[in-house]
Amino acid sequence: MGAIHREGPVSNRDAKILIAGAGLGGLTAAACLLIAGYDVEVYEQAPELGEIGAGVQQSANSNHVMRHIGVLDRLEAVAFRPPVTEFRIFNTGEVLQELKLAEGHESRFGGPYLQLHRADFHEILAARVIELDPAAIHLNSTATGYEESADGVTLLLADGRRINGDILIGADGIKSVIRRQIVGDIAPSYTGDAAWRLTVPTDRFRDGFLEGKSSIWVGPDKHAVVYFLRGGELLNCVMAVESDEWDTESWTEKRPWEELKGALAGWHEDIQAIIDAVDKDRCFRWALNVYEPVDNWNTARATLMGDAAHPTLPYLAQGAAMAVEDAAVLTRCIEQSSSVAGALSLYQDNRIDRTARVVRESHRNRALFHLQSVEELKAQFAKRNMDKERADWLYSYNPLTVTLEPGRVAA
Ligand SMILES: Cc1cc2nc3c(=O)[nH]c(=O)nc-3n(C[C@H](O)[C@H](O)[C@H](O)COP(=O)(O)OP(=O)(O)OC[C@H]3O[C@@H](n4cnc5c(N)ncnc54)[C@H](O)[C@@H]3O)c2cc1C
Repeated sequence: MGAIHREGPVSNRDAKILIAGAGLGGLTAAACLLIAGYDVEVYEQAPELGEIGAGVQQSANSNHVMRHIGVLDRLEAVAFRPPVTEFRIFNTGEVLQELKLAEGHESRFGGPYLQLHRADFHEILAARVIELDPAAIHLNSTATGYEESADGVTLLLADGRRINGDILIGADGIKSVIRRQIVGDIAPSYTGDAAWRLTVPTDRFRDGFLEGKSSIWVGPDKHAVVYFLRGGELLNCVMAVESDEWDTESWTEKRPWEELKGALAGWHEDIQAIIDAVDKDRCFRWALNVYEPVDNWNTARATLMGDAAHPTLPYLAQGAAMAVEDAAVLTRCIEQSSSVAGALSLYQDNRIDRTARVVRESHRNRALFHLQSVEELKAQFAKRNMDKERADWLYSYNPLTVTLEPGRVAA
C-alpha cells in the first residue's frame, strides 16, 4: 500500500516503516501505523501466522489501543471478562486481597479487562492488519540484522534479501537480533522460576468452579495464576515454581506431569483439581529470565519495542500490554516529529521509564508472592493495596492521549 496523504511534519509524512516480527507487538504497531497512513512492511520468520495455546490478560491501558485500531468488539466476543482477581493463600485458599476487574475497571479506566486466548488475540490482530493492507505481512522472512545511513535503513534477511525503508522497528521478541545489534548482548539471569502452563476445558470441573474469578495463589517458592478464557470454556493456569534446573525460554518445552504434581504437593484442592484435569502430555514449562532494563534502545533509524526492548517477568501480566502501548506511542511520535531521529528519541523518552518500572515491579511481585510462611504473606499483603497501586500508575495510562514530552519522562 502506498502512503496516503497526511497532515504532519514533512520529513516523516511519507516514511516507509519496516517491522521485524509479527507477534502481538509488531502486529499492533503495523495496525496503528497503517491507520495513520504509513507504508508498512512486516517481516516474520515463521512460515505461518499463529500463537501458542495459552492465555494473556489485557487491561484498559492496552484496550484503548484495541478500540482505536478497530478490534475491541472482536476481542470482547472471544474473551472472558473476570469479575475480580483474588490473591489467595496457597493451602487454605483464604483471600488476602482482590482487584476489581469488571465494571469497576471499565468505569475507572475507560476500557475493559479481558482474558484472551493468545491464538485468538493474534489471529484478530493479523486479520486487521491484512484488512488494512493485504500485502503488509511477509512470512518466511528471518531478520539477521540491518544497515543504516543518513538516507535510510536496510533490513537484512537470512535468505539474502535486503529491504529498504526509512525506519526499522525491532519487534522480534525476547531473543531479538535487532536488539543485539543496537544494544549488544544483554545476558539474561535466570530468576530461579520455571513457569508451567496448562489449559484445561472447564467441563472437566465441578459446576461453578472458582465462580469465574481469576486468582493468584501465593505460597513458599511458588505461585499459580488461574483464569478463564473463551467465555469460560477453557481454564488457563500458569504455575511459577522455583527450580534449580534451567530449561529453555520456550513455550513449547514439555515436561512430565508427575514433576508438576510433585512440585505443587500440599497446595489447595482447587489447584490439585486443575493439575488432575490437565492432559498429562500437555504440561509445558518455560524458564523465566530477568533482563536488566537498558538505557538506550535507539539508533538514528532503528528502534525496539515489546519484549525486544524491555523483556519482563509476567508477574504483573503487562508484557504484551507494554508492547501495545509502545505501538501506539511510537506511531504518535512518528506523526508528531519533524525527523526520524526526533521521532525515535521522543518515543524512547516517553517509554523507557514506564517500561522499566513494569520490569522492576514485576520482579518485586516475585518476592511478595513467594514468601515463606502464611504469617509473612498476611503481614506483607496487609501493607499493600494492589488495587490502588495499579490504578494509580498502571491501568490509568492511556497511550493515545498521554502527553508526549522530550526528555526522559518519569513513569
Ligand atoms: C507465562 C507468561 C505469561 C504472560 N502473561 C501475560 C499477560 O497476561 N499479559 C500481558 O500483557 N503479557 C503477558 N506475558 C508477556 C507477553 O507474552 C509478551 O510480553 C508479549 O508476547 C511480547 O510481544 P512481542 O510482540 O514483543 O514479542 P513476541 O510475542 O515474542 O513476538 C515476536 C515475533 O517476532 C518473530 N521473530 C523472532 N525473531 C525473528 C527474526 N529474527 N526475524 C523475524 N521475525 C522474528 C517471532 O516469530 C514472533 O512472531 C506473559 C509472558 C509469559 C512468559
